[in-house]
Amino acid sequence: TTTPRVLDGVAIAAEIKAEVGTEVQQLVARGVVPGLAVILVGEVPASQIYVRSKVKTCGELGIYSEMLTPPESITTDEMLALVAALNAREDIDGILIQLPLPKHVDTKRLLEAVSPDKDVDGFHPVNAGRLQSGQPGLTPCTPAGIIEILKRSKLPITGQNAVIVGRSDIVGKPAAMMLLNESATVTVCHSKTRDLPKFTREADLLVAAIGRPGYVTVEMVKPGATLIDVGINRVTDAAEVENFFPGDAVRAATFAKRGSVVVGDIHPAAFARSGAYTPVPGGVGALTIAMLMHNTVKAAKLRRGISTGK
Ligand code: NDP
Repeated sequence: TTTPRVLDGVAIAAEIKAEVGTEVQQLVARGVVPGLAVILVGEVPASQIYVRSKVKTCGELGIYSEMLTPPESITTDEMLALVAALNAREDIDGILIQLPLPKHVDTKRLLEAVSPDKDVDGFHPVNAGRLQSGQPGLTPCTPAGIIEILKRSKLPITGQNAVIVGRSDIVGKPAAMMLLNESATVTVCHSKTRDLPKFTREADLLVAAIGRPGYVTVEMVKPGATLIDVGINRVTDAAEVENFFPGDAVRAATFAKRGSVVVGDIHPAAFARSGAYTPVPGGVGALTIAMLMHNTVKAAKLRRGISTGK
């Protein structure tokens, strides 16, 4: 057996960000400064961290950014008015509504109110339709990041048996469509799938987007397969940490300090049987912001009829 390749999401993200930075400079030379508006409702600590790092990355790449921080009490109608104002602004190319929103706000209605041409999260039904019908548009960041990891690591997609576990609108479904567009043979599994291991064991390329720590175990994996782990799960039990990462001093120290460690949807023991895999953290998750930056520049170009080169 050969040692599996670790697919370094952090390094690939840095590469993408550098390319986006160059594209921004080229736009600025033509008098165009790409602009991103982020709406962050209320005070959800995790959301605040995500939004801050999105805004920071914009600054690093020369993208103009604006943060709108309405209070938790904002109504759907008031949110719709905010979005309408951003839709109308010439200097804003991308609009991102940080999820989750408070329960009283109609998330679906809001996502549909964002102009599809400024929908840098790729969540608008029009962009889902464009992806499905092979038209240029904005695609969801996490699955787009998966494709970048595979291509930049020179891993084959055409003709591969790709199995995706998970069918959410933001990860599983668009990932399936993108892999199909890249000519993989795609199977999508979910909670109602009968005999999941039967499908996963046939996968040359296995994408896990389930939201359950270590759900894909070593017996479920074809030796030599490429494993893409989208899951971000927090494990807070010491015995479980030891089960996932036996004898791992670094994780033990993290657990002692923070009371939790992050585990993907694929059990770490399964990675040892793979040909290549994305670690958690430092794999797929590392690309999400880079792809958001990519989408913002793409939106700036598409809106002005400038070639996106793809
Ligand atoms: P969802 O909860 O929206 O979807 C989970 C999917 O997994 C569903 O389709 C569900 O099936 C399926 N599923 C659940 N349990 C099982 C099971 N026992 N067997 C087979 N399938 C199952 O999650 P998301 O797609 O939003 O996210 C998935 C994971 O990825 C999470 O850990 C999340 O934190 C992470 N994530 C990471 C991102 C990043 O890297 N930046 C971005 C987004 C998500 P069904 O449809 O039948 O219910």
